[in-house]
Amino acid sequence: MKTESLLSFEEALEKFDPALGLEVHVELNTATKMFCGCPGAFGAEPNTQVCPTCLGLPGAMPAVNRVAVESAIRIGLALNCSIAEWCRFARKNYFYPDMPKNFQTSQYDEPIAFEGWMDVEVDGTTYRVDIERAHMEEDTGKSLHVGGSTGRIHGADYSLVDYNRAGIPLIEIVTKPIMGAGEKAPEVARAYVQQLRELIVALGVSEARMDQGNLRADVNLSLAPRGAGGLGTRTETKNVNSFRSVERAVRYEMQRHAAILDSGGSIKQETRHWHEDTGVTTSGREKSDADDYRYFPEPDLVPVAPSREWVEELRGTLPENPTAKRARLQAEWGFSDLDMRDTVGAGALGLVEETIAAGTTPQTARKWWLGELARRANDSGTDVTSIGVTPTQVAAVQALVEAGTINDKLARQVFDGLLAGEGSPAEIVAARDLAIVSDEGALGTAVDNAIAANPDVAAKIRDGKVAAAGALIGAVMQEMRGQADANRVRALILDKLT
Ligand SMILES: [Zn+2]
Repeated sequence: MKTESLLSFEEALEKFDPALGLEVHVELNTATKMFCGCPGAFGAEPNTQVCPTCLGLPGAMPAVNRVAVESAIRIGLALNCSIAEWCRFARKNYFYPDMPKNFQTSQYDEPIAFEGWMDVEVDGTTYRVDIERAHMEEDTGKSLHVGGSTGRIHGADYSLVDYNRAGIPLIEIVTKPIMGAGEKAPEVARAYVQQLRELIVALGVSEARMDQGNLRADVNLSLAPRGAGGLGTRTETKNVNSFRSVERAVRYEMQRHAAILDSGGSIKQETRHWHEDTGVTTSGREKSDADDYRYFPEPDLVPVAPSREWVEELRGTLPENPTAKRARLQAEWGFSDLDMRDTVGAGALGLVEETIAAGTTPQTARKWWLGELARRANDSGTDVTSIGVTPTQVAAVQALVEAGTINDKLARQVFDGLLAGEGSPAEIVAARDLAIVSDEGALGTAVDNAIAANPDVAAKIRDGKVAAAGALIGAVMQEMRGQADANRVRALILDKLT
C-alpha cells in the first residue's frame, strides 16, 4: 500500500478550516423487510430470508412497511425535523452484485424528514449539528470475497452473495456541513455518532450495533484555507464501524488533505476506504454525481402521506430529550461533571444506566465500564458498546463480589471468561474454580506457611510493627492464587502473631 504524506494535525489546523459531513445509515429492527414480508433477523443461514420481491424477480410487487415509516417519522421528530406531508420513493439506478434489482429503492428529492438539528457536547462545549434530511431506503445484500488475504474483492478467488439483508429497511440521516469545530472536528464527529446512536437506542427502532453493521457512518471531510470561508472538495470515507474509527478517520483525512493542498495539489472527489488495522484511508471509487444515478419516482409504490394526527401521535411516543436526560441522570447518580463527561465520551451512558437498573450502584457500574471494560475495548480496537459483555452480566459479576464469592481481581478473570463465551458469571466462577476460599483450615495452613517462610517479618509483627503484615498477606494471597479475602487473611495473621 502506498504511504500518503501527511501534515501534522497542528499544522493542518494552522492553515485550514475543516468542514465535516456525516451520513449515518440505521438498519431498523422491524419484524419484516421494507417492501416485503421476509423476516429481517440477523444471522440466519445465507439466502433463507428472501422472496421474489426482495430478489427483484420480474412481476414482483413491493408494498411499504408501515412500522418502518413509523420508525422513520419518530427518528425525524427526535432530530427536530419537519415531517413531509407527502413524499415518494425513488429508484436510484446503479449496478452492484449484491443488489438484485440493479436499482435501490430510496428517496431522492422528497425525504420523509428534513431540516432538523441535534446538539452535540464535546468537553463541555455544545455544537449544533444541522440535519439536512432523514430518508427511507432499503439495504443491499452482502458479498463475501473468498480466497484473498484482505477479504476484499481484489485478489479473491471467488465471491458469494447473501441476499438476506437485501430489502432490510434503512434510514439514512444526513447532516449539513458542520463548520467551525476546528481542532475539535474529529471529536465532534465521534460525539455526533455516539449521541445519534444513543437516541436510536432510546427510540428502540434499531439494535444499533456498529459491529454488526446496524449503524454505519460515512464521514465526509473537506478543508478550506483558514478564514476564507466556503467549502473545499470533499472526500467520503465509507462504512466506518466504530466511534473511535470515526474520530481517527476524520483526523487522518484532515492531515492527508492538508498535505495535498499545502503542496499545491488538489483533492479528488472520491469515496475512501477506512483501514482499521493501519489507521489509514485508501482511494475507493470516484464519487458519482446525483445525475449519474438517473433517479426517478418509483412507479410501483404509492406516495407516503402521513396524516398530521399520526405525526402528533408519534411525537407523543418520543423518549426524553437526551440533554435533559443526561442532566437528570447526573443528578440521580451523583456523578461529577468529569465523571459524566467520561461516561458519555466512552459511549457508555446507556450501559451504565442499564447496569444500575440491573442492581449495582452508579459508582460500581461506572468503575467496571470505564475502567476494566473500556480498557479492554480499547486494547482490541473496539468500543464498549460492541465488546460483547452485557449490563446484566456486569451486574451479576458485581453481585458475586458483594456476596464475597470473588474479589475485584478475580472478577477480571470472570470478564476474561465472559469475553471467551464461557457462560454466565456464576458458571465461569465454578468452571474456573475462582471462588474465594473461605475454608478456615486451608487459610490457616497458608498463613502458617507464610509465617514459617518469613521469620523476620513475623518477628517484626510480634514486636508491634503491624504494618509489616502486608508482606505476609501478599505471600498468602500468592499461595491461594488470589482466591482469599485479604481482610480475613490479615485478621488471621494478627491473631496468630499478636
Ligand atoms: Zn422478501
